Amino acid sequence: SRGSILITGGAGYIGSHCAKAVAEAGFLPVVYDNLSTGHRDFVRWGPLVIGDVADHDKIAATIGEHSALAVMHFAAFSAVGESVADPQKYFSNNVAGTLGLLRGMREAGCDRLVFSSTGAVYGNAGRDPIPESAAGPTVNPYGRSKFMIEQILADYRAAYRFNSVCLRYFNACGADASATIGELRDPETHLIPRALMALLGHVPDFAIFGEDYDTPDGTAVRDYIHVDDLAAAHIAALELLLRGDAGGVFNLGTGTGYSVRQVLDAIRAETGEAVPSVVRERRAGDPPILVADPSRSERGLGFKASRSDLGYIIRSAWAWHQKAHPRRR
Ligand code: UDP
Repeated sequence: SRGSILITGGAGYIGSHCAKAVAEAGFLPVVYDNLSTGHRDFVRWGPLVIGDVADHDKIAATIGEHSALAVMHFAAFSAVGESVADPQKYFSNNVAGTLGLLRGMREAGCDRLVFSSTGAVYGNAGRDPIPESAAGPTVNPYGRSKFMIEQILADYRAAYRFNSVCLRYFNACGADASATIGELRDPETHLIPRALMALLGHVPDFAIFGEDYDTPDGTAVRDYIHVDDLAAAHIAALELLLRGDAGGVFNLGTGTGYSVRQVLDAIRAETGEAVPSVVRERRAGDPPILVADPSRSERGLGFKASRSDLGYIIRSAWAWHQKAHPRRR
């Protein structure tokens, strides 16, 4: 093994895919997760430590025990609508929790972090595609919680030489080809898994949230990136930090946007079934268009999305939903 990598939130959707990629890159992924939204059976490539990121003593002890070379930090709440309704939950876990993690890392002498950030830092960007320089103002507490951490990390880099790569994910989706890990939340809020669950009869009230946006078909446009592409970018970020680089901020997207209706059309094309849907009003906190400018991550990380064809995204997600999701047919 090339050494251990601590993966907070490694029992979750993106974290578990990255843990697999970390193992395939020759490291031991040590998953650190409180299982509040994660799944024990998503931890397959290394040990699981059950703990909270706010528990800096436990973070420091776990890093010390495994001599972790770096941390990948996925543990966070991530539903935009919920963050609008309950901001305290988001600032406590995502911001205060991360401060605990950072303190634990510094106590253990570990100063390399790959941080899960989000396209939500761009708010109502009004630009398409969006370069990294266009961040803020944010339009919901989830995006704010992540943007605050990015700014904290910039200060840590300057003050402590604590190096970090912030990866701003656009819309993560799809599943590992094994169909043993995938999107699994309760309640499910994301477009593609909700639509597929509606096809399986487990979401009785699937709705398109808004068709009065200033977009070509009136529905909101997003940049959908396969979780395997995200995982590949995390390995590139890790390698950058291990080479001694100070890090930075990078978009992870494809540069291509699809509307909600285009996604539903692609689901019909791939599955042969139309998602039963109604149209409802816009969801609070949702911007009309979020599409990444991927050029900085191409240059700085040497990363380019290569598994994010919308058809492949839907086929791989559909395989997970049919084969292994607990609420399958
Ligand atoms: N969306 C929708 N119906 C749903 C879930 C989502 O119309 O049941 C829309 C949502 O309003 C947004 C897009 O699909 O425009 C992507 O939403 P998702 O929650 O998947 O990701 P987000 O962009 O909020 O991170």
